[in-house]
Amino acid sequence: MTKFVFVTGGVVSSLGKGIASASLAAILESRGLKVTLIKLDPYLNVDPGTMSPFQHGEVFVTDDGAETDLDLGHYERFITTRMKKSNNFTTGQIYKSVLEKERRGDYLGKTVQVIPHVTNEIQAFVKRGAEASVVDVAIVEIGGTVGDIESLPFLEAVRQMSLKLGPSNTAFVHLTYVPWIAAAGELKTKPTQHTVQKLREIGIQPDVLLCRADRAIPDDEREKISLFTNVLPHGVISMWDVDTIYKVPRMLHEQGLDELICMKLQLLTKPADLRRWDKLVHEVEHPAREVTIAMCGKYTDLSDSYKSLNEALRHAGIHNHARVKIDYVDSETLDEKNVAQLAKFDAVLVPGGFGKRGVEGKILAAQYAREHKLPYLGICLGMQVATIEVARHLGGLAGANSTEFDPATPHPVIALIDEWQDRDGTIQKRDAQSDLGGTMRLGAQSSDVKAGSLAHRIYGNVVTERHRHRYEANEHYLERLQQAGLVISAITQREKLTEIVELPAEVHPWFVGVQFHPEFKSTPWDGHPLFIHYVKAALDHQTARAGVIEKAAA
Ligand code: GLN
Repeated sequence: MTKFVFVTGGVVSSLGKGIASASLAAILESRGLKVTLIKLDPYLNVDPGTMSPFQHGEVFVTDDGAETDLDLGHYERFITTRMKKSNNFTTGQIYKSVLEKERRGDYLGKTVQVIPHVTNEIQAFVKRGAEASVVDVAIVEIGGTVGDIESLPFLEAVRQMSLKLGPSNTAFVHLTYVPWIAAAGELKTKPTQHTVQKLREIGIQPDVLLCRADRAIPDDEREKISLFTNVLPHGVISMWDVDTIYKVPRMLHEQGLDELICMKLQLLTKPADLRRWDKLVHEVEHPAREVTIAMCGKYTDLSDSYKSLNEALRHAGIHNHARVKIDYVDSETLDEKNVAQLAKFDAVLVPGGFGKRGVEGKILAAQYAREHKLPYLGICLGMQVATIEVARHLGGLAGANSTEFDPATPHPVIALIDEWQDRDGTIQKRDAQSDLGGTMRLGAQSSDVKAGSLAHRIYGNVVTERHRHRYEANEHYLERLQQAGLVISAITQREKLTEIVELPAEVHPWFVGVQFHPEFKSTPWDGHPLFIHYVKAALDHQTARAGVIEKAAA
């Protein structure tokens, strides 16, 4: 039978509940347990995919094509269980399901209420998430903070669940904030006392408090927290700021978190073995070299918008014994006059994106990287802009564009499939605006890789990666693009869509565009072959450039 750990948050958001949950899962996994994670999001959006990355961070995509909260990315990077659609749900999805049942008459005319109908639905969704994989423990992270109106039905649902399942099958972990007040020179425990009070008001007594602070919390303060919150002193665990998230599992283990959870859940296991985490932290802290990558995108606020991408680059750094520094270049400000600023970087990356803003700057970045033999990696939109660039400047197709940015372009080298099939007269054009969130190519698909290509050296015969996009390289232009020198190095097995484009080795040392999102599958353990190759190319470029500079000086 699966046991449940419910993780709630208090005081403020952004304390790292996702990392805390994933870390607990990782330690339990290292004790030989099978673990999964489920994220409950207390907002009314049905589809996290349509939410702004500005507000909400990146949209993480699973193999089965679910657009989910970015915490699922942390989960996949920390544990081996793969996430599915059912590992993340929102209040919007719960209500949608309840209302559909009501419309169908499933409730037989009864009054439909938050309790029990919505709370029952939540419990059913949690169970479904846990059952999606065969596991010993399911860790359920409840988004939002205790005291929010939005979170209440979730908290009530998991309280009921723990009552039904019994105390040895459920545990509650509450993440809270202990601020350091500089003027007083003190850590303040009052907000923690209040948030636990709130939690106990709704009938939840936490077994563990994870106390976030900028420093370790001294024993006397921990005892005070224990006394006021009715949590055993060894259940009051300190979670201080660290420079790498990969230190968190060891930090929590040292304070006995996993031991306490296993005792509560009556799980007999071997002791935790965190050696691979220690090794990882050692690698992160002792790089032999450093590379700097220019990321040309429209989110330059170092936010969570490119979370998985940043992680994938870091992982690739670890596997090259290098620290990867990412400098954000706002593509909206890039123009012919200042594009030479890219010369100081070891490589250029254009990430995924939607909408017209900053696109011309991205095309310019691709052109600069091509002409100056800077390693270039284009991801999704980054592949599309590279294709447009080659079409315009090597293929003689002036004004080439994606119909996403210029619907009237004379050369729609990137377009919706319906649009380019339209030219054949085969398929009726559909209103692209009508179904935002519903018309994307989503999830994992496989492609055959062309022998002898750079992609083949990286991936071998077949590449299976995850997608999240609407527009595709237009089949009717492929021949022209190939004549212009673009290599189409992978094509999907089923629909024969373009997946990878590159420049041949004679022309450019490393220039690759991929229609998919490889970053979602990178883990710190194995890295990801595409990113590992790319960072290696950046290191090689750095070495070559240093050689040129030395020669010039001599
Ligand atoms: N906007 C492009 C499309 O929809 C690229 C999407 C992306 O980069 N994820 O096809």
